Amino acid sequence: ENEALHCIGCGAVIQTTTPDELGYTPQSALEKGLATGEVYCQRCFRLRHYNEIQDVSLTDDDFLRLLNELGQKDALIVNVVDIFDFNGSLIPGLHRFVGDNPVLLVGNKVDILPKSLKKPKMTQWMRERAHEAGLRPVDVLLTSAKKPNEMTTLLETIEKYREGRDVYVVGVTNVGKSTLINAIIKQTAGIKELITTSRFPGTTLDKIEIPLDDGHFLIDTPGIIHRHQMAHYLGKKDLKIIAPNKEIKPKVYQLNPGQTLFFGGLARFDFISGDRASFTAFMANDLEIHRTKLEKADAFYEKHVGGLLQPPRPDEVANFPELVRFEFSVKEKTDIVFAGLGWVTVQKPAVVSGWAPKGVDVLRRKALV
Ligand code: GDP
Repeated sequence: ENEALHCIGCGAVIQTTTPDELGYTPQSALEKGLATGEVYCQRCFRLRHYNEIQDVSLTDDDFLRLLNELGQKDALIVNVVDIFDFNGSLIPGLHRFVGDNPVLLVGNKVDILPKSLKKPKMTQWMRERAHEAGLRPVDVLLTSAKKPNEMTTLLETIEKYREGRDVYVVGVTNVGKSTLINAIIKQTAGIKELITTSRFPGTTLDKIEIPLDDGHFLIDTPGIIHRHQMAHYLGKKDLKIIAPNKEIKPKVYQLNPGQTLFFGGLARFDFISGDRASFTAFMANDLEIHRTKLEKADAFYEKHVGGLLQPPRPDEVANFPELVRFEFSVKEKTDIVFAGLGWVTVQKPAVVSGWAPKGVDVLRRKALV
């Protein structure tokens, strides 16, 4: 039997089957590595050759250990969340783990918010939600990892609050943490060598340290997978469709009670009762929206999911979770949020329902716009 191969960078056991997990290296790269005697996992390879960080994710247990470790540090904690999936990107119990350390809450992907949404309103809303979750951030900042000039502001804010300490960047997967860290690396010119060290003695989970100019570090930590994210049910191509990369153009629908909107085959919104009113959908511009009669909606979905109603693609339909219904009685202007997908603003009192794949949350919040 062959002994397991280890990455000479981080020590992870080399595997060629699961790209998103530790130790992955493509078969062709493994063969080259074996020929030269230098086997790296893809992550360490990219770090070494391109100064670029790829995201890895942790199991719940490892993530708990990481969080526990945070509380024992004297550091600034930077918690990156996706403002498009705020609830889905909160880390349960983070406030209990950080100890006395200050938390800077960073809402990423601000570039996709519609212009009609005022930033102070968004940060105020984030602060309120954070408080509800028990987290009392020292500050709330909106940013976009895709806009290099935003990194300057982020770094200045980090500098302001870190007060000579290390900085730990934490977040669930998909919030854009890797993109953000890579943008920071590009911004902080002169970093020649990123340092990879083992976070937990006896394990191979590496943390990545970016040197700051006073001997301290900004430390990237692996993200935890959030199972309630829509992202877990979709292939890469579909993710491109639902993850907006441009400013969202809100779409307004005049609906009568008894009408339904389908968002591809991913979600559904029913206007059950109330006066004729307008409803505004904030979703990726490329996601197709179809209107039908509520009474025909079940049959319509059955017939067209994977066809007219995409994503999911035809070959994904068999494994796609059924849509689950959540009903809401709305009294004032309210957003019905489909976790990770977007939201529908209900302007007037109405009874509505939102449907999402089993496991994905549909919730209400005070309207943002
Ligand atoms: P991680 O799992 O938290 O490391 O997330 P990634 O960095 O892999 O990003 C997840 C997805 O969000 C990718 O498709 C990114 O291109 C996208 N993304 C990251 N940051 C931004 C941003 O600021 N704006 C937009 N529009 N997309 C972003």
